[in-house]
Amino acid sequence: MLSVDEALAAVLREAKPLPAEEVALDAALSRVLAEEIAADRDLPPFDRSAMDGYALRAADVAGAPCALEVVGEVRAGEWPGLEIRAGQAMKIMTGAPLPPGATAVQQLEKTRPLDEFRVTIEAPVDERQNVAPRGSEVRAGERVLERGRTIDPAAIAVLAATGHDRVRVARRPRVAVLVTGDEIVDVAAAPGPSQIRNSNGPAVAAQARLAGASVRLLGVAPDRPDATLAALRDGVAGSDVLVVSGGVSAGDYDFVEPALAELGATVVFTAVAIKPGSPLVFGRAGETLIFGLPGNPVSAQVTFDLFVRAALLGLQGARVTSRPRVGVELATAFKNRSGRRCHLPARIRYEEGRLVARGLRSSGSGDLVAHSRANALVVLEAERRQAAQGEHAEALLLGRFLEDDGA
Ligand code: AMP
Ligand code: MG
Repeated sequence: MLSVDEALAAVLREAKPLPAEEVALDAALSRVLAEEIAADRDLPPFDRSAMDGYALRAADVAGAPCALEVVGEVRAGEWPGLEIRAGQAMKIMTGAPLPPGATAVQQLEKTRPLDEFRVTIEAPVDERQNVAPRGSEVRAGERVLERGRTIDPAAIAVLAATGHDRVRVARRPRVAVLVTGDEIVDVAAAPGPSQIRNSNGPAVAAQARLAGASVRLLGVAPDRPDATLAALRDGVAGSDVLVVSGGVSAGDYDFVEPALAELGATVVFTAVAIKPGSPLVFGRAGETLIFGLPGNPVSAQVTFDLFVRAALLGLQGARVTSRPRVGVELATAFKNRSGRRCHLPARIRYEEGRLVARGLRSSGSGDLVAHSRANALVVLEAERRQAAQGEHAEALLLGRFLEDDGA
């Protein structure tokens, strides 16, 4: 059986970046950048006042308080028409270019109008004080965003400031989602006494969308070999990734593996030493990557997070494909009797200078409610059968709230 790291490496090897496309800046949020972005001009593009106040020569006010002659005003968006000479000042607004001859800005609060033509500067200023010099943030031509970065609002700001109203991003992976199981019924249907609502389909689709994919929902395939094969065929067609939930265990009615064989898919692995989620199938049919996730809702979500999400990000050329890991102090004891790397639902909080993790009561890999309350998974390696309160461990952040939001 492969370790989690070996399995992840095998997945990432198969997840070659998809071709890029150009989108409007407006549509670039959460996409992965497929080009390096450089500044097209110095930022700031001119010596810029950081304050409302008076542009002046710092040497003139070394002995402040003192009076200066006011020779004009520069507003943001204006270019100063004249030069400041000894003994002169110009009223200036935040964001306006510093007039030639000026070496600093004294903020308005430290000045007082004396009469119509003069101002009293009440305190001295250093050279360059309250001035953001041209190019002090970046120089024209300097790289400001790396290829493979996920575009967040801060990156949108950089793209906008450097004139990129269109940007090259990786094409969205096309993901088909298939769930299997005779007991599974649609959310809108009234479940019979032995039936279970399909929670994996919507959950996995949502996870795929958050990872940048466009999703096609294939519905529920019954536990029959022919129906499973037909659904897999449909799912592979036109998809970069097919995610199947359920039907991958060794039960009498688990038909995903044999159907993959019949489809002619290359199977890379069928099990990973992980809990939750040991039966986990990964393969490829033509250009389509195929994941067979366990049907148990928590297993499906956790294995998606670890493997499918990484593949989707890899397909988009992302630099970072895994969830962030942090060191935590355990506020409760954790157990791992599985003999595999174990991921346990926890809530992490920042307490008195450290990150503390509390285990959540969970009845196991079906307990999707407990999983929804977790903001992290505490990771215990196979050999670590228990971890006592006060010990340290690694945890994977799930990208959800860290604050106490009542969950
Ligand atoms: P399986 O992997 O098909 O053996 O399913 C394992 C468990 O997960 C069973 O209890 C199933 O009822 C449950 N399960 C399978 N698919 C889904 C689904 N789409 N939504 C919710 N639970 C599911
Ligand atoms: Mg099943």
